[in-house]
This record gives sequence, structure tokens and C-alpha cells, in this order.
Amino acid sequence: MVDNSKTIRTRFAPSPTGFVHVGNFRTALFAFLFARHNGGVNVLRVEDTDQNRLVAGAVENLLAVMEKLGVTFDEGYFGKNGEKGEYGPYLQSARLDIYKQYADELIANGAAYYCFCSEERLEEVRKEQIALKKPAMYDRHCRSLTDDERAAQLESGQPRVVRQAIPVHGSTTYQDLVYGTITIDHSILDDQILLKSDGFPTYHFAVVVDDHLMEITHVIRGEEYLSSTPKHVLLYDALGWQMPAFAHMPLILNPDKTKLSKRQGDVDVESFLKQGYLPDALVNFVALLGWNPKTEQEIFSMEQLIAQFDLAKVNKSGAVFDLAKLDWLNNHYIKQLPDEKLADLCKPYLAGMGPVSEEYLLAIISLEKERLKKLSDIVLQTEYFFKAPQYEPQLLVWRKSDAAKTKQVLALLRDFVNVTPDETLCSISKFEESLKAFIAEHELDNGTVLWPLRVAMTGREKSPTPFEVTATIAQGLGRAEVLARLETAHSLL
Ligand code: GLU
Repeated sequence: MVDNSKTIRTRFAPSPTGFVHVGNFRTALFAFLFARHNGGVNVLRVEDTDQNRLVAGAVENLLAVMEKLGVTFDEGYFGKNGEKGEYGPYLQSARLDIYKQYADELIANGAAYYCFCSEERLEEVRKEQIALKKPAMYDRHCRSLTDDERAAQLESGQPRVVRQAIPVHGSTTYQDLVYGTITIDHSILDDQILLKSDGFPTYHFAVVVDDHLMEITHVIRGEEYLSSTPKHVLLYDALGWQMPAFAHMPLILNPDKTKLSKRQGDVDVESFLKQGYLPDALVNFVALLGWNPKTEQEIFSMEQLIAQFDLAKVNKSGAVFDLAKLDWLNNHYIKQLPDEKLADLCKPYLAGMGPVSEEYLLAIISLEKERLKKLSDIVLQTEYFFKAPQYEPQLLVWRKSDAAKTKQVLALLRDFVNVTPDETLCSISKFEESLKAFIAEHELDNGTVLWPLRVAMTGREKSPTPFEVTATIAQGLGRAEVLARLETAHSLL
């Protein structure tokens, strides 16, 4: 049982192997929300025991991502900024002597043993098992060595590992806060390595030692660890330690219900940030991957998430990663931003489009923000505000009009723009009023005039209103540009 009088301590325990997968970020976010909701402590422990998979700068990168997204840690390993907290070191590679001490204890009480098997022998055993269609597991050869045999091997200086001695019979059961009672039969558990020959622990061993010594009360992690937790439970028992509470988070799935993978698009948080998904939107979106507040509310600020987060409302079934929902949320947060702020955020994306005045940029942003799904879309979405569009001439012709009529209208429009004073041309409302009067005066249909005007300005069927785009282009690029676009359209027909 979990002792509820203790300060809640959660941890995020990434392996520094490069980018931050959405699933890892979800784990980090839930551990953070749970700690904050309960006035607890959130720890960052870096699990760098697989030295072959380390990537330089991975910790710094991870910290930068967490900071952008507002997930903070009270204790832990902070890369170049060192460590904070009294349970360190928080970097597993700096804790080798600690793991050694507990491995010795496990050996002494019979819950672990030395294994001296060579790679070649293990490979042979594996091949035999595969041939017999048996699961590939260690055959426990060294578990039955006599004391003398073991002493002789140790003396010879033979490389050795430490393996967990899984009880031969029975099963292990634990309570998961999300999945309920989990029972695993010992017959399917491998006597797996706890300490490698180079003195590094494996994940399964280090995680138990560290969660215990760091007084973690709630282990929150991905579903992939659900079935290996019984191995951890056996280690807690063997060391006489009280277990933390376990809460495994459901899988994150592609829309076709396969496990979320790179093959179907981006899965790392950095690439979503780079594409211009706002941190608030990403946090809101990821929070709903598996956590269901059971209300109609869909928009959550970090404060609201902290106030409402509850592990009891985490679902067991896989959470579908719905990009359309992320786009919808991001558009929601984009619309909340003041134009000035949004313009600043869009500037890096627009850097290649050539310089424009601040005023023009703000006008563009205010027209386009309603439809903007992610910041990087601003480039294609607003291209026509920077350079003349290209389009098929046929697009100029409204469905109730024809080419000859459209050509005439474009000539009329050109003449109209020519005589419209700047003050009218550059004001959306005045230009609208004046053009509407012109249309009425010439007894024309709105579509006959406004359709080709829009296409001449934007090259598109959909855009802000033709009044908005024309007046804005006149404002930013000048009357000559508006005339040139009308001229081009006219000559295309
Ligand atoms: N280092 C493991 C991972 O990155 C941690 C799993 C756990 O939280 O126990 O998946």
C-alpha cells in the first residue's frame, strides 16, 4: 500500500538518446501534473546506462523542450547546469557503486547470481531454443553452479554478469493504478541481466534501486513497462523495500490503430514545435492523449490541467493521435494571440519572403490568423501578399460568367483602381464601399467582378475577402502592384 502521508514524489526518467518522442513527453507531462496537483516533487533522472545509445547534447535538448512546454523539475540532473536535490547523483552512470552494492545484496540473499556464460554459448542456446520454437530465454546454466565451481570461475577472472533469479514456480501480482491487477507467471520471466560485465546496470535493475533510493512514491510511465513491472516487484521484495505505486499510461496510436511510429509522420515534440505548433496547444493536446477529464471541456491551460489532473481518469485503451485535433487546438491558441505577438512568431518562417514593413505584416497577420493552423503554414498561406500569384487563366472566370466578360470586367477594374484615391484604395472599408457602388452603377453581379478580382490578387479560390486582400496589397505593395496584377489577369484571357 502507498503511504499517503508522504510527500508525493514523481520522476521522469528519460534515456538521453536524442529527440523527445510524443509518448515520452506525455509521460513527463503526467508525472509533472500529478506532482503539481498534489504539491509534490518532480524529479528528472537521466537513465544513461546504455552507453552505446547516448547522443551528445541530448539532455540539454530535452531540457530546452521541457522548458518551452512548461514542464519543470524540482530535483535532478540538469546537464551543464549540474544537479539539484539531495537524492543524487541523478545520472545513472554516476551511480555504479550503488548498483554494485545492491547487486551484492541480492546475490547474498539468493535473489541474483553470477553468470559466466560466454556470448558464444548464449548464442548456441538461443539457436537451439529457436529451432525448438521455444521462447529465447537464458537457460539458467550458471544458476546451478556449485559453490566450488563459482569460486573457481570468480578466481579465474572470467567476465561475469549478475542475473536475477526469478522464482521457478508461481506468479507475481501487483496493482496498477490504471490497469488494475496485473499478474505475470514466473515461467515467462527471463533470468535477465541486472549488472553487465562492465559494471553498468540494466534498466530493470537501476530503475528499482533508484526509484527506491530517490523515494519515488508514484512511478508513471508508458504501457510498454506494464508486463516487466513484476520483475521489478520481485526485486523490491528481495531487497525488503516498499513498492511505489505504479501507473502505466496507455499506448499512443496512429489513426489506423497501430503504435505511433515515425513511418506515419512526425513523432517527436521538437518537430511539432519547429512546424509552429504552439507550446500551449501541444500541452493541451498531449494531456488529452489518454487522460479524459470526463467533461465537455477541451481547452485546458497548464493551470487548469494541474488543478484537474487525476490518475483515476487515465484510460486503459490506446489514445489515437489525431492530427486534425492538434490543428484545431493550435488554431484556437493562434487566434488568442495578439497580432503583434503572432507576427513576431511568424517572422522566422517568413524570413525568405523578402522584407516588408511592420505595418503590412500586421495587416497580413490580422487577415490570415483565423485560418492559420500552424505557424509554418503562414508562408504558403500568405505568399500572394509578397509576390504576384501564378494561376491557370481559367480560374479567373466565375462560374456564371465567361472569358470575354471577365476580360472586360478586368479592364473596368483596372480603370476603377486607377481613379480611386489612395485614401480609399488602401482602406478596406472605404474600398469595399466604393467598389460596391461601382458594381451597382455598372449593373454587374458581385461574382462577375469580385471573383476575378480575388483571383487576380491571390491566384486562389479562397482567401480573405477581395476587398481585404486588394486594399491590403495596395497598402503594403502600392497601387502599382494592384494594377500590375489586374493587367496580368487581363492579358491572360
Ligand atoms: N528510461 C526509461 C525510458 O526512457 C524509463 C522508463 C521508466 O520510466 O521506468 O523509457
